[in-house]
Amino acid sequence: MILVNENFLKLKAGYLFPEIGRRVRVFAAENPDAPIIKLGIGDVTEPLVPAVTKAMHTAVDEMAKKETFHGYDDGGVGYEFLREAIVQNDFKSRGANVASDEIFISDGAKCDTGNMQEIFGLDNVVAVTDPVYPVYVDTNVMAGRTGENDGKGRYGKMVYMPCTAENNFVPELPSQPVDMIYLCYPNNPTGAVATKEQLKKWVDYAVENKAIILYDAAYEAFIRDDSIPHSIYEIEGARKVAIEFRSFSKTAGFTGVRCGFTVVPKDLVAYTKSGQAQPLHPIWNRRHCTKFNGVSYITQKGAEAVYSPEGKKQVKEVINLYMSNADTMRAALTEQGYQVFGGEHAPYIWLKTPKGVDSWTFFDLLLNKANVVGTPGAGFGAAGEGYFRLSAFNNPDKVKEAMQRISKI
Ligand SMILES: *Cc1c(COP(=O)(O)O)cnc(C)c1O
Repeated sequence: MILVNENFLKLKAGYLFPEIGRRVRVFAAENPDAPIIKLGIGDVTEPLVPAVTKAMHTAVDEMAKKETFHGYDDGGVGYEFLREAIVQNDFKSRGANVASDEIFISDGAKCDTGNMQEIFGLDNVVAVTDPVYPVYVDTNVMAGRTGENDGKGRYGKMVYMPCTAENNFVPELPSQPVDMIYLCYPNNPTGAVATKEQLKKWVDYAVENKAIILYDAAYEAFIRDDSIPHSIYEIEGARKVAIEFRSFSKTAGFTGVRCGFTVVPKDLVAYTKSGQAQPLHPIWNRRHCTKFNGVSYITQKGAEAVYSPEGKKQVKEVINLYMSNADTMRAALTEQGYQVFGGEHAPYIWLKTPKGVDSWTFFDLLLNKANVVGTPGAGFGAAGEGYFRLSAFNNPDKVKEAMQRISKI
């Protein structure tokens, strides 16, 4: 008899975005003429920049000639041209010490944040912020690391660290021992950022407790204040305790192209049950090269072009467009009397729903009265109740129109 992996049965039903999609479809069917504006799912709306598509076209032509054709990317860890561009532009330039052979190119940060847990023992205690990007939780549920669902969406063996306006959306250190700590800054969904001092506390905690930090920096390109760290490796000691995830998805509009990377420093260790330190770099290398066979040459050439002088300039213009949307939203919603967070160094606005209105009720209200789609905070975790996420990924005109409509409810 074929047995199912019962861990999958513990997953929370009614995943957030399908439920949003369902409600929008029902509304659209009943109101076929309603001009719906979507500020919901975190997907980019601007096309790839010319520097990227030019590099990809050239790469396609190279693939068409015997002399310049590329087969498998040797080992699947990524071409040196891209890994070196990343080291120089993303890390060296900010004083972070990362070597090119510590970088693993992949098809995106969702896969990497989801896959990384495989190299850690099942007895580890996992800590996540609440609200949280659901991938960190669900992949640990699938692996069998979380215990049972309590029926309210929380798992018995998991540690939840609430992030609310009271702590500026940066969690306190956990009061019980934890081993795997997922942090994401700039944050999805709250749009919050962490300062160097705040991250230093986490790095020190991880060093002291022999824990590991899984740091998702998918939104670092949206940081507008130079004193805010883009990488956890800007923090002293982080090379011993942190893995960092990056993506070209939000930075350069690669959501439909697929390219990201993960940094696994050679200083990083985890322990056997008998207490022996094991370097993680060779283990992740083995995992990556066994289950993954590399990102296409064409895509990696496109990613490399993000770091060319034209590429940098063009990508910056797109990010500025999204961030000017965020400015528009922050200003309009604040003027309308909403309590607004985020949106300064991240493409997400996190607002407090009006008193007595829960986040799904607010979702329905916005959909019905303003024909605007957002994301209910409760969908990201229990502590997200009473909050609502609006994404800045849209056309400036649509964003302005959405703000006007919201002002009329
Ligand atoms: C969008 C996003 C990513 C990037 O995912 P890709 O798979 O690289 O497209 C990673 N982490 C968070 C928190 C995100 O919102």
